[in-house]
Amino acid sequence: MIAMAHGGGGSRMLDLLEEIVFPLIDQAGEPEDAAALSLPGTRLAYTTDSFVVKPIFFPGGDIGKLAVCGTANDLAMRGARPLYLTLALILEEGLSFGVLQKVLESAAFWAKEAGVKIVAGDTKVVERGAADSLYINTSGIGVIPEGREVSIKGAEPGDVLIVNGFIGDHETSVLSEREGFDFEVAVDSDCAPLYGLVERMQQAGTIHALRDATRGGLAAVLREMAQGSGIAIELSEESIPVREGVRGVCEMLGLDPMLLANEGKFVAAVPEDNAGPMLAAMRFHPLGQDAAVIGKVLEGRKGEVSILTPLGSHRVVRMPSGENFPRIC
Ligand code: MG
Repeated sequence: MIAMAHGGGGSRMLDLLEEIVFPLIDQAGEPEDAAALSLPGTRLAYTTDSFVVKPIFFPGGDIGKLAVCGTANDLAMRGARPLYLTLALILEEGLSFGVLQKVLESAAFWAKEAGVKIVAGDTKVVERGAADSLYINTSGIGVIPEGREVSIKGAEPGDVLIVNGFIGDHETSVLSEREGFDFEVAVDSDCAPLYGLVERMQQAGTIHALRDATRGGLAAVLREMAQGSGIAIELSEESIPVREGVRGVCEMLGLDPMLLANEGKFVAAVPEDNAGPMLAAMRFHPLGQDAAVIGKVLEGRKGEVSILTPLGSHRVVRMPSGENFPRIC
């Protein structure tokens, strides 16, 4: 069990690192103040994120997988190849070693899957009740290949918008686990490392704009894209992929799938004449099998996102207020 002394910088902290952390996160074993890294190329992507998800284990993932994939994905969304992560733990006194081990095993497994190395880390312990079991902060560095420019600002009129699969799975999974909902159709989180799929897309054509639809869901990311790129977006409601299970939870709780967080979904703006080959390339990848064109980029009113309903009427998609549910990532 984690004791306050495990964060004290003395022999008990060394024991914790040597017995539990380093065997799992093997790259973090360098006893230096900072990792010395070699970086191919000169243009870097650099990001950081903290993870406080509750509960720390949920269908399809856990806080360790989330921390690694979330940070690696933010690098991939700039067209970068994720290379190195740091991983910092804030542990609550009394946390069991078994839980910590399980989370670190998962983080290490998904780091390998994502092609990143965890090269530095930190461990702090706070008193019982001062944190909720464990929190993780991860920072990441990736290299952006020469000549590649992927950002939220690049969408152009004439582009189509592609999402790489079903939306709302992550938040549905975490909420169901937290609230103890027992639905007929269980939904797994979509948490996954996206770099491989993005790289396949880069080979299939040009991506003008890209962002993962995490907190705030599809609605927030499309609003950010419309504002960042100075364009309007028109969606077709029928074409947005939503699972039965997610639809059911949304109907029961009065939620909108467009506002639910994802951890393995992104929106890409690509030139319309390139959409066919792009979709074909995506569907060939396990994380893009259900990719769909969900709308188009128009000159229109800058920053506006509207949705065409199956009945043929238009409504404006609002930016979520952020008050939905806390601690989903
Ligand atoms: Mg992001």
